[in-house]
Amino acid sequence: MQPLEQDLLKFSHCSRDIYCSRIPQLCPVCGQSAVSSWSLQDAPISIPTPFQNGHREKCCFLLKPTAGLFGDYDGCSDLHVGISSTSGLVFHYNETGIHSDDAGWEQCVCVPLVPPDYYALINQWDSYLQDFVATDTWLPPRYNEEDHNCYTFALQFINGIQTLQEKPSFSKTEFTERFVLPRTKRVSKYMTVLREVTYNGFYIVGKQ
Ligand SMILES: [Zn+2]
Repeated sequence: MQPLEQDLLKFSHCSRDIYCSRIPQLCPVCGQSAVSSWSLQDAPISIPTPFQNGHREKCCFLLKPTAGLFGDYDGCSDLHVGISSTSGLVFHYNETGIHSDDAGWEQCVCVPLVPPDYYALINQWDSYLQDFVATDTWLPPRYNEEDHNCYTFALQFINGIQTLQEKPSFSKTEFTERFVLPRTKRVSKYMTVLREVTYNGFYIVGKQ
């Protein structure tokens, strides 16, 4: 596993935001003490990792690179998606059919699908999931990379849950724009900062 679980820190100096893995004694821009001029709003803050362990996040839509980890992700290679159960299993669909994995989704982008106090739904979640995967719809020959794939599987399940709750369905575009893109943008930004910090010790940007 790549060092992606490490949180990044950000502090402000010289009207810049400076990202690092630990706060230096001297500001890398001006060489003055990094600490002395901290006002409350310049105090370091921690930038949490955008990744979560999909086996520990119940009732989520999960996203990860099809091959490898986000550490190797270049922003345009294939992504794979799945749905987590309440017991750490991740259900997903590919050309060989339905799978339920108890490992391999440790580093994901997670979109929670159920508020934590929706007990009735959470209690039924695994049986909905079991019923959903047990249909002919997800047999291997029906797989199609374009329009009957892992995303179709996840979205149809999500829309089934929406219907159960008498809520409107999502189109693929709508779900992607509302829930996925903001998170993948955060991942790209985080990876840029992490790479710079790993290779150069700092990542320095004008104040945002
Ligand atoms: Zn400075």
